[in-house]
Amino acid sequence: MDTANHPPRYVFEDLLTVRDTKRYFLLPFDVPPGTSWLRLDFYYEPERVPHPKEVANLVCLSLFDSQGFRGARHSFGTHKVVEIGPSAATPGFLPGPLPAGRWVLEVDTFMVLPGTPVSYRAEVRFGPDPEQAGAGPAPSTVWRPRPPLRREPGWYRGDLHTHTIHSDGDETVAGLLDLARRRGLHFVALTDHNTTSQLFDPCLDGNRDLLIIPGMELTTHYGHAVSLGTTSWIDWRTGHEGRTIAQAIEDIHAAGGLCILAHLAALGDPVCTGCAWLFTDQMPGQVDAMEICNGMWFQVGSNNPVSLHIWKEWLQAGHRLPAVAGTDFHAAHDYREGAPANVVYARELSEAAILEGVARGHVMVSTGPELYLEASLADGGRALMGDRVDPASVRAVEVRWRGAPAGAKVLWLVDGETCAAWEGEHGEAAPTLPPGARWALAEMWGADGALLALT
Ligand SMILES: [Zn+2]
Ligand SMILES: [Zn+2]
Repeated sequence: MDTANHPPRYVFEDLLTVRDTKRYFLLPFDVPPGTSWLRLDFYYEPERVPHPKEVANLVCLSLFDSQGFRGARHSFGTHKVVEIGPSAATPGFLPGPLPAGRWVLEVDTFMVLPGTPVSYRAEVRFGPDPEQAGAGPAPSTVWRPRPPLRREPGWYRGDLHTHTIHSDGDETVAGLLDLARRRGLHFVALTDHNTTSQLFDPCLDGNRDLLIIPGMELTTHYGHAVSLGTTSWIDWRTGHEGRTIAQAIEDIHAAGGLCILAHLAALGDPVCTGCAWLFTDQMPGQVDAMEICNGMWFQVGSNNPVSLHIWKEWLQAGHRLPAVAGTDFHAAHDYREGAPANVVYARELSEAAILEGVARGHVMVSTGPELYLEASLADGGRALMGDRVDPASVRAVEVRWRGAPAGAKVLWLVDGETCAAWEGEHGEAAPTLPPGARWALAEMWGADGALLALT
């Protein structure tokens, strides 16, 4: 049926100025019993401003039905169309029955620039549809845990930060998984902005070979954090009814997930709206791990060298926060050569084991080369990167690497000071760990100054 031909049941219009930036505008409407389809048309302008062309007004949508979260559209685009029915929905939104009652369309003003005000118009259409009476059952929007893909312990490679058409990515979930297979990944986290609909994409039913880690990127007005291992929507709206980022992180933990601080030092407003982490109580606070590399190392907007520097300052200050990477995949070129991955030591290839490996810091960040750090202990045990050991109990430290490109250097850092450096395509070394050492790591740097691996 052509839903656009129906007259709107509700129309909301307003004019936004710079004072309305980073707010949540709630537009309630009532859905009667028997409703089987709903369509939203949301228009706003202007998006791009003439100078400089890199900055833009960013206005996004969240939708709540009478029972809770129903989807979000976090992307640019001055005309957003949302359709929801019993068996299908626009990416970003959850299909299924449309409960009667008070629904709320929320206008999330990520960026309203000074200057020309932003005008918006929201049209809400819905109705009963006799044709839908014979539609199939609603697809499940309850996460189904999958069995482990491999039962043996090992090093598993994957991406912990991706976006698809369920938010502002270019690829479908199926397209992302195909690209991940071609990269030889074992696991992929699906972390679209502020929604969970990617976790219920029909293509996942046919996926048998890639481990999917559920999650979402909490894309707040003042910084982004990736929630991993959570399948329900985490309310990211800091400042809304007094909500704090600490409460959002507590919700992630209560749901059994990990909170990964994303692109901490990213260039923020107005170049990358809301991308810089500005929550001073969560530096690192209750955060479980942080990205020291987001996208390609030299990606200007991500500001990776500064994130790495801050991570080391936190180590120096006594925090023990695992370092991870995320491609922040949005399009096929984000999986080009040199994109980072996480190589995680896990007891099996399962969601729980990978998250456990990440939480313990058993992670090698790598753009391709391998770099391992292990220690043999006086009691006969072994320790991996991320483990806490008493330096006095360490019998020997081993650093091993493979696949280093010409001109690359492997560095051994103790308490932030470079204590040894090695070269060669592959090799192994047994650096010393001074008795009073507090933290140590190995890094591999390319001749061009890009981080190749860290462990
Ligand atoms: Zn982000
Ligand atoms: Zn992202």
